[in-house]
Amino acid sequence: MREGGGRALILLGPPGSGKGTQARLIRECLKVPHISTGDMLRDRMQAGDSLGMIIKRLIDEGELVTDELVNRMVQERISKPDCGKGFILDGYPRTLSQAGMMCRQLADRGTGWLVVHLKVDYNEIIRRLAGRRSCPGCGAVYHLTSHPPAVAGLCDRCGNSLSIRDDDRESVVRKRLEAYEERTRPLLEFFSEEEGSFCEVDGAGDAPPLIAERICSLARSGRPGGAAACSN
Ligand code: ADP
Ligand code: ZN
Repeated sequence: MREGGGRALILLGPPGSGKGTQARLIRECLKVPHISTGDMLRDRMQAGDSLGMIIKRLIDEGELVTDELVNRMVQERISKPDCGKGFILDGYPRTLSQAGMMCRQLADRGTGWLVVHLKVDYNEIIRRLAGRRSCPGCGAVYHLTSHPPAVAGLCDRCGNSLSIRDDDRESVVRKRLEAYEERTRPLLEFFSEEEGSFCEVDGAGDAPPLIAERICSLARSGRPGGAAACSN
């Protein structure tokens, strides 16, 4: 494997495990870009063209978007100069085929990686997603009881009205959790086989900044692993 292509931090975990919240905090300490395929797809959806409509239908039904599309999006994004020192992947890879693609791409560019599994139990996930509110303006995420905005219904940062993501409705949440169990959970085994590039972090016991600190120090220590998983 080549070296010198920075290091990727990959956040794996079910919907509601806090990948997005953690990625935003970790970005501040590692000073590398945060790449969220969910955010990229929601942006792409706004275009309102036929591809945007296809993406919207899949997301609103709790289905995954095709591997081909997300692979291409991520490939384009990580080839930008700001990703040279590394980046945080949030929501990608989500299938074994995406994981295979990612392995090859990162190995080719000499980027090592650390996979962090954010562990959160099922009941906590349901509670989080049911109370989640987000800002369509700046992407900030709130929770009705555990992280409410200063003024009910309004974003602290930009004042926009907060909304419930269409895919946080209960019937859709169930589908997203099923998709996670079937398509994404197998990745844990795939990545955990290589010692040194996989770790598990409790995503629920402490406040988000504390969890982020733990992940940052894990990311800073240790050698960049990764290459071996590609040969699986
Ligand atoms: P969460 O992790 O809470 O489900 P995200 O914002 O990461 O939320 O993703 C929202 C939706 O975007 C997913 O339910 C899925 O439809 C789509 N999506 C995001 N990332 C991927 C991916 N890597 N592959 C396929 N679909 C994806
Ligand atoms: Zn906002």
